[in-house]
Amino acid sequence: MGLTIGVDIGGTKIAAGVVDEAGAILETSTVPTPPTPEGVVDAIAAAVRTVGAGSTAEAVGIGAAGYVDDKRATVLFAPNIKWRHEALKDKIEQRVGMPVVVENDANAAAWGEYRFGAGRGHEDVVCITLGTGLGGGIILGGRLHRGRFGVAGEFGHIRMVPDGLLCGCGSQGCWEQYASGRALVRYARQRAAADPERAAALLELGDGTPEGIEGRHISEAARAGDPVAVDSFRELARWAGAGLADLASLFDPSAFIVGGGVSDEGDLVLEPIRKSFRRWLVGARYRPHARVVAARLGGRAGLVGAADLARQG
Ligand SMILES: [Zn+2]
Repeated sequence: MGLTIGVDIGGTKIAAGVVDEAGAILETSTVPTPPTPEGVVDAIAAAVRTVGAGSTAEAVGIGAAGYVDDKRATVLFAPNIKWRHEALKDKIEQRVGMPVVVENDANAAAWGEYRFGAGRGHEDVVCITLGTGLGGGIILGGRLHRGRFGVAGEFGHIRMVPDGLLCGCGSQGCWEQYASGRALVRYARQRAAADPERAAALLELGDGTPEGIEGRHISEAARAGDPVAVDSFRELARWAGAGLADLASLFDPSAFIVGGGVSDEGDLVLEPIRKSFRRWLVGARYRPHARVVAARLGGRAGLVGAADLARQG
């Protein structure tokens, strides 16, 4: 199979792209994400039809945030779009006349990185995506590990801290409450509230109050060496690295790929993650260590990965 179409469903926009066998995006079409679940289905179909018109694309892969069933057809549960047992594959196939594969978005991104990005040359790879929350994907022996029911790799809700912080999922102490973009903002706000003088430069980037500090302010300040911003990244990194050590016990991959907006900061966040990973890795002095590397495809990973999964059939 030659060209396929990948679809990435974001909170604000839906992107569809024609992707070739080398993972290059040849053409894209984006539409705003509609507010209703049925509207999103229509918008996906419209974006696919627009980008596919005049191309020889033969199949469609859709990355969706949520639990996707083992047949890669139905979104069982999507917290943001409010899909519940949504038969997405059937609906899109009817509208676009091509075979469709639906995959969890973090799985699709992991597959994209494995095939065309930071995971090339590895057969056993675990990806974490540090975005607003924390997503994951597992490649074992060159295959995407989906689990019996299709929902493996949901690392964000591993309970890292018994009786820890309340999570939106209803549990407590979930990993993403400690290692995610949202956690980063909390760390910075807490530090700014406790010591406004030390956080003066960071506070100035927002509206002057701790609540006015946003992720982009922390990134900007950290790049300029601001101590509060750098400390906030380090705290996030400590939790991320500790979790990776646990994942090494579970999956023993040769590489961990760290993606998502937080990883855009490169070694500022990667180095403390590596340090924490080594600190918590059991028997660290006596075993080979997996590499901890930054994702390479950025925001394209999900679209490219979904398109490639559609190609694999
Ligand atoms: Zn949770």
